[in-house]
Amino acid sequence: MQSPNKSFLATPIEFLKGVGPDRADILKKEAQIFTFGDLLKLYPYRYIDRTQFYSTQHIDNTQTYIQLKGKLKDIRELGEGRGKRLTAVFYDNDGEIDLVWFQGIKWILNAIDTKETYVLYGKPSWFNGKLNITHPDLEKLSTYTAEDAGTFRAMYNTSEKMKTKSLDSKGISKLMTTLISQLKPEHIVENLPQSILSKYKLLSRFDAIKNIHVPQNLSLQNEALKRLKFEELFLIQLNLLQLKIIRKRERGIFFEKVDHYFKNFYEQALPFELTNAQKRVLKEIRKDTLSNIQMNRLLQGDVGSGKTIVALLTMLMAIDNNYQAALMAPTEILAQQHFVSLKEMCDKIGINIALLTGSSKTKERKKLLADLLEGNIHILIGTHALIEDVVQFKNLGIVVIDEQHRFGVAQRAKLWKKNNVPPHILVMTATPIPRTLAMTLYGDLDVSVLDELPPNRKPITTVQRYETQRIAVFDFMRDEIAKGRQIYIVYPLIEESETLDLNDLMQGFESICRSFPLPEYNVSIVHGRMKADAKDFEMQRFVKGETQIMVATTVIEVGVNVPNASVMIIENAERFGLSQLHQLRGRVGRGAEQSYCILMTTHKLSADGKKRIKTMCETNDGFKISEVDLELRGPGNLEGTQQSGNIDLKIANLATDGPIIEEARKAAIGLLDEDATLEKPENATLKYYLQHQKGSSNFWSKIS
Ligand code: ADP
Ligand code: MG
Repeated sequence: MQSPNKSFLATPIEFLKGVGPDRADILKKEAQIFTFGDLLKLYPYRYIDRTQFYSTQHIDNTQTYIQLKGKLKDIRELGEGRGKRLTAVFYDNDGEIDLVWFQGIKWILNAIDTKETYVLYGKPSWFNGKLNITHPDLEKLSTYTAEDAGTFRAMYNTSEKMKTKSLDSKGISKLMTTLISQLKPEHIVENLPQSILSKYKLLSRFDAIKNIHVPQNLSLQNEALKRLKFEELFLIQLNLLQLKIIRKRERGIFFEKVDHYFKNFYEQALPFELTNAQKRVLKEIRKDTLSNIQMNRLLQGDVGSGKTIVALLTMLMAIDNNYQAALMAPTEILAQQHFVSLKEMCDKIGINIALLTGSSKTKERKKLLADLLEGNIHILIGTHALIEDVVQFKNLGIVVIDEQHRFGVAQRAKLWKKNNVPPHILVMTATPIPRTLAMTLYGDLDVSVLDELPPNRKPITTVQRYETQRIAVFDFMRDEIAKGRQIYIVYPLIEESETLDLNDLMQGFESICRSFPLPEYNVSIVHGRMKADAKDFEMQRFVKGETQIMVATTVIEVGVNVPNASVMIIENAERFGLSQLHQLRGRVGRGAEQSYCILMTTHKLSADGKKRIKTMCETNDGFKISEVDLELRGPGNLEGTQQSGNIDLKIANLATDGPIIEEARKAAIGLLDEDATLEKPENATLKYYLQHQKGSSNFWSKIS
């Protein structure tokens, strides 16, 4: 095994030439840089490449900043007020590209000379299906003396305080150059096995670190970036897959038979024919529960794909084998609704089902907990309250977690301890997530997909409407209600200004009540500030069809099921995220009738806002929507992923590095296939590294 020559990397940062005590202090406080090694881990966020001139023919939007040489023509001032802008065409011998300025228009108009040749430096991006460069740097070729001329340099983010000590990007860059000049191959441990380096054509770790900071040229910088991204993603995949392998050695409960509960229900109480996807997933689950190994399965399915019935049938398998089952939901409303709809079905076949939530009364709670321990309760439904230690089962066989994204890995792990042999675990996601993200977030789970909606569903028609079209929207609502349909109107709720939002909601409610008066129309209202029983009362009125319109905040977002509701109106739709819009829309289109989703927006939308609304109007496919969401918001902001600490990436990007994720996963699978416990000598350094890197130990402590 290559032994790390730690002393160099562990050298305190004050010993680097150019650092001294003052700067060392700032580096420690502002950037947690204590040693040489820490400094090397401060990765650049982009590069200035002024070593070469590109041709306008070779521009694409994968480039960051590029340098061009050419002239300007067709200079135009366009738009009014805020929309005011200046456009020009930049051309060289090969072609042209549009330029746009939104600021400093007058100055640029004065300065530009169409006879001059310029050196342009900027970042190409797509706009309206065409490439352009916004706010480029321009310098006359005749006087081109840019400080950076001919350089290829890394750019670093630093703080205001660092800048006061001249530790701006350039300052860091200087330090980095000094450090890299002293760096020798023996200082850097190669943590990837040689076989993987050659198979995936990766730079050595030493070369990668050198070229990420002080690139010799563009292609080496690209390779350095790829190597470091690969390494980061590969280590994550190794962790997840090893976890999966360890689990596969974990004894699981054997569900020997499928007996009368399952059969009775299937033959007599099942309200519809299962879709082929539902049947396939049930077979996958059945196979797991017959394997003597604990099931850890993720069920992905779009809203309305029928996950609940799969959950129930799975729980019946447990009950047929004298085990109990638990179903965990993220909110009280959803837990309640699962309880109500499942109870109806369970009563038919003599199954005892109970509900436990935060608002269960002490006395009921005591009785319930006692019954649970006695084994008198077959299925327990609840919220997070289920994880608490006081909740003890007689023999828990399976836990279904609905809307997984709100539960972390650690919470999942707590559930295992609720039985001697860990119960089987089925997690169901509310929102489909892109494949590459699933690989990273749920890489330790087996995955089933419900890729088929129940038959006779008509795709929901989605449209955008403005406030000025409100009267037409009201007319449309009256028509739908006349046909016997029900309508949701949802208002955004943003935590920082809850009062303000509540005002919006109440005003909306009043205006609806005026336009849809009693006795002909009845209107429900539900929001987060209401007491649980008041909320429930209003919900139930709507569920029973006593009210035609439900005015609500996003408390109704998840899971609510009223098949007769055919119109979803979302107010200030631009304020919602994509996955939330998709979830809300999923509340309609559950019956046989044509359903509609109306997105009310203002005229002023941000570019992202426009894209979200457009995406919603164009597609009903949750997987497509999640791809766009990932692209727009980045993985860190994707709903629900914040808590999952294992995607706190330093250099890779889950939204854009899909191909590297796939490769890294493939490489990890290949390696573990040959050497599951990393015993082979050639994998020794990797094993050592996995056990000692900070990230992975955190990761492991969360699991166990
Ligand atoms: P989700 O996957 O969003 O949790 P649900 O389980 O709530 O979806 O199911 C949505 C609706 O579809 C429910 O009204 C349910 O009864 C109905 N449903 C589920 N499976 C089928 C099926 N195979 N045929 C017809 N309707 C179904
Ligand atoms: Mg559901």
